[in-house]
Amino acid sequence: MSTNLRIAVPTKGRLAEPSAGLLQRAGIRFERSDRALSVTARSAPVELLFVRADDVAELVADGVASLGITGLDLLEESGFDLEAILRLGFGRCVLTVAVPKNSPIQQPVDLNGMRVATSHPRTVTRYFGDQGVQIDAVAMRGSVEVATKLDVADGIVDLVSTGSTMLINGLRPIGRVLESEAVLVSGTGRPLDDIARTVVTMLDSVVTARSRRYVLMNAPRDSVALIEEIIPGIEAPSVVPLAHNGMVAVHSVVETDRLWTVLPQLKAAGATGILVLSVEQMIA
Ligand code: AMP
Repeated sequence: MSTNLRIAVPTKGRLAEPSAGLLQRAGIRFERSDRALSVTARSAPVELLFVRADDVAELVADGVASLGITGLDLLEESGFDLEAILRLGFGRCVLTVAVPKNSPIQQPVDLNGMRVATSHPRTVTRYFGDQGVQIDAVAMRGSVEVATKLDVADGIVDLVSTGSTMLINGLRPIGRVLESEAVLVSGTGRPLDDIARTVVTMLDSVVTARSRRYVLMNAPRDSVALIEEIIPGIEAPSVVPLAHNGMVAVHSVVETDRLWTVLPQLKAAGATGILVLSVEQMIA
């Protein structure tokens, strides 16, 4: 009997590449031949099952796989009792309510009694139901954005990332049902074993590292207090004396989104030789 931990991973589509990249970066190394449905990792006691993104939830719910990577939207729509234990930071999109540009409908509640085309009928029926709105959900597998043109629906609910597809199809967004991204799922109330916990730690370390940079600089010792205010670091920045009297090297981890603000402040505080490096993994 195999002691490997099984993880269900999307084989095709938008989530496939970033999922594989994340696993590899987290130290779960594997080589995939085109047709293999499963592969055993070289570097970890893990077996990857390659399946459609919308089958992942069912396989984890059935216990065929202990963990899975799928979209939060697909998890909601599946109706299975699963837990999203980690947000993975890719596959971001919004399940959006939209109507034709010239429609008199202004807000989601105005769709009461009307037809709404969507690839997420359960989620959408629940969303409208929670607002006391009855809609007729028209389930479609793809091309949801043409449903109003074809007069099979009065409004649609579809996944949007940039919004350009909706715009091109003459649709106007009027509400947000769900903000989605790729997640790691496990069975609710099913305790994670040691290998599963290690997988979570390793994936989390990559996700955390991706939004951070390691910043190094030289600075006059007198500027350290000011620099520490600008970049407090995880606990405190490391300060290392340099051979040159009165100068120190300061190292710290900074959120990538703050670099725009922080780098000019560091320069103004007297820092020189500022280096910004990417971080592979980070366990806080
Ligand atoms: P797939 O149909 O296999 O390409 O995967 C679709 C999944 O990718 C969705 O369920 C979402 O979780 C995610 N996704 C991210 N952005 C988008 C988008 N703009 N349109 C559709 N799906 C998206």
